Amino acid sequence: DIAERKADAEKIERLAFYDPLTQLPNRRLMLERLNRALVGSTRHKGHCALLMIDIDNFKVLNDTLGHGVGDQLLLEVARRLQGCIRLGDTAARMGGDEFVVILEGLHSSTEAAAVARKIVDAAAQPMVVEDRPLHVTTSIGVAFQDQNRPSTTVPELLARADEALYDAKAAGRNTFHMA
Ligand code: GH3
Ligand code: MG
Repeated sequence: DIAERKADAEKIERLAFYDPLTQLPNRRLMLERLNRALVGSTRHKGHCALLMIDIDNFKVLNDTLGHGVGDQLLLEVARRLQGCIRLGDTAARMGGDEFVVILEGLHSSTEAAAVARKIVDAAAQPMVVEDRPLHVTTSIGVAFQDQNRPSTTVPELLARADEALYDAKAAGRNTFHMA
């Protein structure tokens, strides 16, 4: 009985806070973590950064190869994202082909740029999905929390990352832009 109730509670928690496809934190949990990161980032704990990651031309891929292949591709991108970050950082799926990474304990924006570069490069490595060799690229918008502006809010950081992502797309994709 108790075991059953515990299992139910865990299932509800999973559905509420995690993306069912990738098992990554969903938008809701990401917003909580981002809020905590902003509040917690003091002079001692360092800066944090928000990376907004969107797959390039995913619609074409989905339409030509099918949703099933598209889903496998999203899974592989999720795995590669996790391989690019440190313990304590967060990789989340916002929905669709959009992911977010929250970096904490950074010393400078250079570190955030280095991780963005690493993700762009990792995602662009060839992959095989259902015996089919594929090549996808990603674009990333980076918003760095400036220590000199301690009042930075979650919506503000999200808007800046979004704008930078738009710039990366406009610059030809397969790249990152700093806000
Ligand atoms: P851009 O380079 O500008 O990002 O172009 P895009 O084609 O990637 O455009 P956009 O990011 O707006 O498209 C996201 C597409 O992702 C739309 C939809 O076809 C697809 N999609 C959304 N959710 C899912 C999903 O759960 N699984 C799969 N396979 N596809 C999804
Ligand atoms: Mg896209």
